[in-house]
Amino acid sequence: MRRFAETAERIAATTKKLEKTALLAEYLTAVPVEEAAVAAIFFSGRPFPVWEETTLQVGGSMLWRAVAELAGRSEPELAESYRAHGDLGAVAADLLSRSEQVAGRRPRTPVETQQMFREIAAARGTAAKAGLVRSLLGAASPLEAKYLVKVMTGDLRIGLKESLVEEAIAKAYGGGLPLVQRANMLLGDIGETLKLAAQSRLEQARMRLFHPIGFMLASPAQSAEEALVYFENAWVEDKYDGIRSQAHCSGRIVRLFSRTRDEITESFPELRQALGGLAKDVILDGEIVAWSYLADDPLAGTSGRALPFSALQQRLGRKQVSEELMRQVPVAYLAFDVLYAAGELVIDRPLVERARLLNQLLSEKERTESGAAARLTASHSDGSQEKLAFDEAAARRQESVAVLVIRAPVFHGSTPDELKQLFDAAQARNNEGLMIKDPQSPYTPGRRGKSWLKLKRELATLDVVVTAVEYGHGRRIGVLSDYTFAVRDGDQLVNIGKAYSGLTDREIADMTRWFLEHTLEDQGFRRIVKPEVVLEVAFNNIMKSTRHNSGYALRFPRIVRLRSDKLPQEADTVERVREIYARQGA
Ligand code: AMP
Repeated sequence: MRRFAETAERIAATTKKLEKTALLAEYLTAVPVEEAAVAAIFFSGRPFPVWEETTLQVGGSMLWRAVAELAGRSEPELAESYRAHGDLGAVAADLLSRSEQVAGRRPRTPVETQQMFREIAAARGTAAKAGLVRSLLGAASPLEAKYLVKVMTGDLRIGLKESLVEEAIAKAYGGGLPLVQRANMLLGDIGETLKLAAQSRLEQARMRLFHPIGFMLASPAQSAEEALVYFENAWVEDKYDGIRSQAHCSGRIVRLFSRTRDEITESFPELRQALGGLAKDVILDGEIVAWSYLADDPLAGTSGRALPFSALQQRLGRKQVSEELMRQVPVAYLAFDVLYAAGELVIDRPLVERARLLNQLLSEKERTESGAAARLTASHSDGSQEKLAFDEAAARRQESVAVLVIRAPVFHGSTPDELKQLFDAAQARNNEGLMIKDPQSPYTPGRRGKSWLKLKRELATLDVVVTAVEYGHGRRIGVLSDYTFAVRDGDQLVNIGKAYSGLTDREIADMTRWFLEHTLEDQGFRRIVKPEVVLEVAFNNIMKSTRHNSGYALRFPRIVRLRSDKLPQEADTVERVREIYARQGA
């Protein structure tokens, strides 16, 4: 890793992109391809390729402690160095270079380092993980430790994005940047991309089933009028509040991946079953939602309806899902796109064509369905008689558990009035708002463009009081930018969330100064501060949670503005939180 770290230092030292990519290209060609492939992943700021679900599960505080122990320093000394450097990697280099410890150093190559990362990821329990982190860092030189820490925190901070690593690969091995980009998009693995480039085989990069690719993202539209600026005839779908999921299906083998490309199949065994048995190998894009199929649900109409995210929450993060839970919280997969079918990548085709293909795939499945407890429409008749003949147990389960794959309904709108009506109808179905899509647009993985727009309802905001602050990550390293905040409960304050984004750099710098002067308890990485700063926060919705002592948590909280005009006594109360929670209708 010596050469890796030295190259990273040189890349950090220049602001010119061309020089950065030239330095990186030089390094990549100078080391064996196997090493270069892993280094390319590290240079993208990750320990593992994008498509892999493996995560280190090593937090800032574990690294913080490991560095303190190895350097033989106390937490306050570390905090002081952190304030000077604003980066835990730099702190590690600084303190370790001042410590005596050189025994036990052993140079590791990038391939060996990644192996060690895998052991850390696989280790169960904090003590085991921390031990491995210590031995990884303990065997490194101070400069290597600096970059090991940075890779582990997921940000090198040397002004290198994955797109520049792609450029460097193109420069190092030829083949042209567009081919490198495409291969990386299809493989989700910059290391594999590098290997193909090195062998001049970039054209052979193929989409691989069970290797998730990036999700197409939507840009916010402020109004129905704005939504129609970008294209005239909009395709409109409800914006469901669930979990985005890419479904990779090959016969009965089905795997579901979340937006962070983590595998989530285990949480939804009934969807695995429902999506099984498609006639072709496919990759679908859709949203998993908690689904209400009760006939007497006034909002359900004939096709059921999605429930708010808080209902789905009970199904998340479980390795085992009981039959009972499946019954209590039925889910559905609302399919709205297809990316791959029968060996062919279809993302470059316009949405109209992909939609046709999707409809066809789902109706083929409906026709060939042979008794597995799956329904492809949202209708209520469950056809249990016929299904009992094939698979009694599955059909019986279907009587009580809704197992659904639903084609998300598509509406059309070409005037602001039509969009407003659709918006109201979506809200009446309790959905978040609308997704407005350009029917002529290709599917652009990992990009947030104007071909998909989201129109969401205005939500209530809360005025909250900051109770604790932490140093930020990435660009916000070295400033106190992560705020834990609370609402009032009688004359107490109870925490309800943590927000990172929303303030300007200037505001954050001012707040950092204020928090440093008004710290009640310095915990190193975190500070308990005088509860005086009031913020207005927006959020997607409120969930019940044991994470904070209010018993609630905000989903996707973001700071709207500082409320310097408000006193902490004027902040919102836990009663108001309860009210908003009840209004969500969970
Ligand atoms: P946001 O999370 O607010 O950026 O909104 C984008 C998210 O909306 C997507 O990532 C999906 O998870 C979700 N979504 C809900 N319904 C749809 C839909 N019909 N089409 C695309 N995305 C949808």
